[in-house]
Amino acid sequence: MIKYAFVYIAVLLSSCSYKPYRIIQKRQNKKIDSLKKELSLKFEIPLLDSLQQPIEAQYVPAINFGLRKPNFVIIHHTAQDSVAQTIKTFSLDRTQVSSHYLISASGKIIHLLNNNLRAWHAGVAKWGNISDINSCSIGIELDNNGLTPFTLQQINSLISVLKSLKTAYKIPAANFIGHADIAPQRKTDPSVFFPWKLLSDNGFGLWYDNPDLPPPADFDTENALRRIGYNTSNMAAAIVAFKLHFVKIDVSPTLSDWDKCVLWNLYKKY
Ligand SMILES: [Zn+2]
Repeated sequence: MIKYAFVYIAVLLSSCSYKPYRIIQKRQNKKIDSLKKELSLKFEIPLLDSLQQPIEAQYVPAINFGLRKPNFVIIHHTAQDSVAQTIKTFSLDRTQVSSHYLISASGKIIHLLNNNLRAWHAGVAKWGNISDINSCSIGIELDNNGLTPFTLQQINSLISVLKSLKTAYKIPAANFIGHADIAPQRKTDPSVFFPWKLLSDNGFGLWYDNPDLPPPADFDTENALRRIGYNTSNMAAAIVAFKLHFVKIDVSPTLSDWDKCVLWNLYKKY
């Protein structure tokens, strides 16, 4: 009897603790169901010829397949005032934004979306030739308003999440980047307070070493930024994004001799 009472209390407690999110969970399940329907379609995109006439094609089912895997991790700061505010933002249809993980300043990890699903965190962005970052990445939001340093607990939790993602999906070290990297001018997160060197020391993102050697006289800085991944269609914005990540003490849109040394050092690593 005591055993049954214990189970009853446990169920009651668990249902109480999840109650605030039960409605959101139902809405998420409904969206997943609609995706299942999409997966059952034989042809997702109609095949059309140059005259926009349907092209005949036969459907023969293949049986060897799996889910697409993320190959990048994009780190953000929320620029909001609290975890609760961010959760609310992610639960409103009209915001059209979400991420896979949210990490609080105290280090609490909140998983919001299955890693196999496409979160809407990158927006209009580009890295190298990839223009649909959401389709190949995991988005991680750090609860931070952009004006204060990140806490040690938060960074430790982030590193734990990154370790498991890197192992599970075999994500290359260079593919751990920030929102500002992929959306120069439009985004500045994570802020200059973000410890990219510490992350690189742990295997997430690249960092320069010994940038004492000056680049050759004909060093093409635009080409170097592009090789790292930056969209250089607006060169000034690309330089600011690069300096936000790798220089930090100065984020002006020009490259000093020191900045060029750092860029040259990194260029050789990519
Ligand atoms: Zn962001």
